[in-house]
Amino acid sequence: EDWQDRGAAVSVRQEVDANGHTVSRFVKKGVRDFSFGNTLGEGSYSTVVFATDRQTLKEYAIKILDKRHIIKEKKVKYVNIEKDTLNRLTDHPGIVRLYYTFQDERSLYFVLDLCKGGELLGVLKRMSTFDEECTRFYGAQILDTIDYMHKRGVIHRDLKPENVLLDHQMHVKITDFGTAKILKAPRRPDESTSSIPNMDSSEVPEEERASSFVGTAEYVSPELLTDKNACKASDLWAFGCIIYQLLAGRPPFKAGNERSLAWITIFLIGFPAVARDLVERLLVLDPAQRLQIEHIKNHEFFDGISWGTDMWKQKAPRLK
Ligand code: ATP
Repeated sequence: EDWQDRGAAVSVRQEVDANGHTVSRFVKKGVRDFSFGNTLGEGSYSTVVFATDRQTLKEYAIKILDKRHIIKEKKVKYVNIEKDTLNRLTDHPGIVRLYYTFQDERSLYFVLDLCKGGELLGVLKRMSTFDEECTRFYGAQILDTIDYMHKRGVIHRDLKPENVLLDHQMHVKITDFGTAKILKAPRRPDESTSSIPNMDSSEVPEEERASSFVGTAEYVSPELLTDKNACKASDLWAFGCIIYQLLAGRPPFKAGNERSLAWITIFLIGFPAVARDLVERLLVLDPAQRLQIEHIKNHEFFDGISWGTDMWKQKAPRLK
């Protein structure tokens, strides 16, 4: 077994030693440091449970994975990818943060940000569609988060409303990095964004290529189906699908036999013209021709958004 424990967080405990001196000890958190509550959800290989840190009373979601099941189903690689990507993406409000990892004989535990608002898909289903203001708000938070992960050298590869969770203040937290691709040579956080080209997969250096087929049929980009390569622009295809879905109430493309996916987007009457223009510039077959993040931010649809940390201090609009 190769369950790596790099990057695991520890807590500092103040103790008084035999001489009466206060000493700080680094203590690795474990199962006994949490009290476990209701089940929040179940995945194919995991159960997510509400938990509180017994010491600080801070609330978390703990993802519990059964080791035997994961080994049997050959998912060890994906569990490690999830952990490695989350450990690389720890300082942005739009990512579900991984605080601690530990294990016991049976299970692996990921201590994560609690997302009380559930999945964006569930909220959308309750509302049936979002208005432009809500779509702009959630779209902007998702895009800012994609921008952050791309700058850190991570392609998500499975962006969809089920993988966008919402916290207690209905702010976005992107999750499910099990199928993400970590690129070599990540860009430094302080590096200028304007120099990042929207590369066609043929221009992407070998180590930046993500060559295994992963994702969800409705949101999968054409380049992934044709040459099995994902690049950063593949996440922007999925972003275009999400913007469409928030406004229309359903994704632009139907799943089914993937080879029969026709890349024709139908906009119903009433679909806002400015949003349609944005979606049409994102759902472009050639990834090199797709709108780049900086241009999406400057698109008229996002007029009025102040990009950066300020947008995470904004109150979420009332859903309508
Ligand atoms: P699968 O592995 O089958 O693709 P999944 O990725 O949804 O499923 P999990 O990540 O284990 O599997 O999530 C299971 C459920 O728990 C999901 O429905 C999700 O909404 C919920 N959940 C996951 N993470 C959190 C969290 N941080 N806070 C609150 N609920 C969560």
